[in-house]
Amino acid sequence: MRGNKEKSLCAICGVELRGGKRSYPNPVCGQCDSRALNANGEKAKWGFEYVFKTQERYQKALDEARRHYNDNTIDAIIVPDDGENPVFIDGRKCWRRYRFGGYLTMRDDFDCSDISEFYRKHNKPRSKTSEKKND
Ligand SMILES: [Zn+2]
Repeated sequence: MRGNKEKSLCAICGVELRGGKRSYPNPVCGQCDSRALNANGEKAKWGFEYVFKTQERYQKALDEARRHYNDNTIDAIIVPDDGENPVFIDGRKCWRRYRFGGYLTMRDDFDCSDISEFYRKHNKPRSKTSEKKND
């Protein structure tokens, strides 16, 4: 079976994941991820909801950007790739990597205190030069 040995399974429920995630340790499927909670037991937030929380705040940030750049034609703010970390799925600690307007979720086997520790403990060693902070 072609590609069989490369398939990756959800680290929570074991469902087979489609390609693109196998280079990350302990990937979590979208179904499990949809149950992710933050440390307060609320639904984990990211992107727009995490950064601006409400339309009003977004509008305020947009107004501030227009003032700051003295440019009223600015019509949008790019939402930063950011969100809550860690998150908890069925009580299991997971870390999210936020990038490209989305994220992926990975299960933590070692109860790490931050995502760089997570990468250190779950990844094969990478060359120092390709390693960037928070990436
Ligand atoms: Zn799953």
